[in-house]
Formats: sequence, structure tokens, C-alpha cells
Amino acid sequence: MAPESIVDHRARAALEFCWADGARHLAEYRWLRSSCPCADCKALRAAQSGDSAGELPPAAAVHLTDIQPVGAYGVQFVFSDGHDRGIFPWTFLRELLDRRRVQHPCGASPEFVSEEAPMGRCSDAENPTRDGAH
Ligand SMILES: [Zn+2]
Repeated sequence: MAPESIVDHRARAALEFCWADGARHLAEYRWLRSSCPCADCKALRAAQSGDSAGELPPAAAVHLTDIQPVGAYGVQFVFSDGHDRGIFPWTFLRELLDRRRVQHPCGASPEFVSEEAPMGRCSDAENPTRDGAH
């Protein structure tokens, strides 16, 4: 269930996940940080919003400093704010990205969508087929 590849778009401060089923997601570092599933972050989210699974307000300029594989289980991100306890199981990460995609096409803000990194399914959604008839 691990993604086939992870592309680090450092200029965009985002990771691109490519999955075996063809799905692709773009996830900003700071969004990953705010979605950290560790016990500390869950407690923080629960305290702030009452929802331990929600997103924290995005940290201003958090970068990803390291990515450590955790066996076949998932991945551990090390963030520039020193937080390195967030282990994202692949299944959790995929669910998180899929769920977010419903609200945010491409799992990214619009400025991430460009010809430089076209997101297959998302560009389809942006250009709905027109029937031509008026
Ligand atoms: Zn955390």
C-alpha cells in the first residue's frame, strides 16, 4: 500500500505522492505537519478544535528536513521546527489525502496547479468536457 514514488518538490514546499492505482496527490510540508498523527499533535488538535483528527492551523514556514522510511509500514517526516515524531502509516496517509481531495482538488491550493507539474485527474476536473452546443 506504499506509494510507488514520492517526489520532493522543494521549490513548492510539497511532496507529490504517486500511487499504484494511478492516484496522485500533492501535499504541502506544512499541511503534513499540521496533520501529524502523533499523540502530541492529536492532543493539541483536540485542545484547539475538539477534533483530534482535524488539521492544526498551518505553521508559518515549516519545511521538511528528512524523510525516513518506517519499514513497509509508512514514513516518518522530520520537520524544520524540530518535530520528528510523526509517523504516517501509508494507509493513514492515503485516507488523509483522499479525504482532503474532496475539498481541495489536487490536495493543494490552486497555485500548485501549473503546467510544470500537471496533476492528471485534477486537470480533468478543471476542464470539464463541453458539449459545444450553445
Ligand atoms: Zn506530531
